[in-house]
Amino acid sequence: MLIIFDLDDTLIDTSGTIIPFLFEKILIEMQGKGFPVSDIEREKQLLLELNKKEPSSKSAIEKYLQRKKGNVFMASAFSMLYESLPDSCPVVCRKNSLEVLLRLKKDHELALVTSGMYKRQIDKLKKAGIDRDLFCKILVTDTADKEKAYGEIVSCCQYLPYEIVVCGDRIDADLVPAKKWGMTTVHMRYGRGLYQKKNEYVDFTICEIEEIEKIIRKLLVHL
Ligand SMILES: [Mg+2]
Repeated sequence: MLIIFDLDDTLIDTSGTIIPFLFEKILIEMQGKGFPVSDIEREKQLLLELNKKEPSSKSAIEKYLQRKKGNVFMASAFSMLYESLPDSCPVVCRKNSLEVLLRLKKDHELALVTSGMYKRQIDKLKKAGIDRDLFCKILVTDTADKEKAYGEIVSCCQYLPYEIVVCGDRIDADLVPAKKWGMTTVHMRYGRGLYQKKNEYVDFTICEIEEIEKIIRKLLVHL
């Protein structure tokens, strides 16, 4: 089988480490530019709360600054969100993701389809200690919708859609397009995925990455 993984909040803990780090950095820098922040920690928690329900961290910042009447800081906050990750930024794997990838790799092919900027996504892989060579294909899409990227994989790999499993935390961006291609979908309930309700685009739901191994074994029986 071919198993396609999402990166942020599926293999690595973006919500728990990278996002809080970036929000704090942005608040400190905006404070330095005159944005009135009396308690960085409290404002960071507020931003993180907003981030849970927003489709992206960019829109969380947008909403936050609109509320705080800080629109003038919007552009610089956005640019900080997308500049390369500082060395001090923690990037860690989610529990057991590396071990699971290594075990799956023995019998299956793995691919990575992630949204964002290429350099930054590859940088995250490196910092998390995930070897690029684990994946037969790595695609970084600049749009949230992965339909085109999945199509590229279908057209160039030897797998039929029903032999492909896609695992990601965002139903709209990761799983809806996979289902359109006839792939099997596994919803990772983490990060933004915690707040998305299961729908017809979700075949399986997991909270921990190792649960996918059982699903793959089950699917293999029916192939
Ligand atoms: Mg994700």
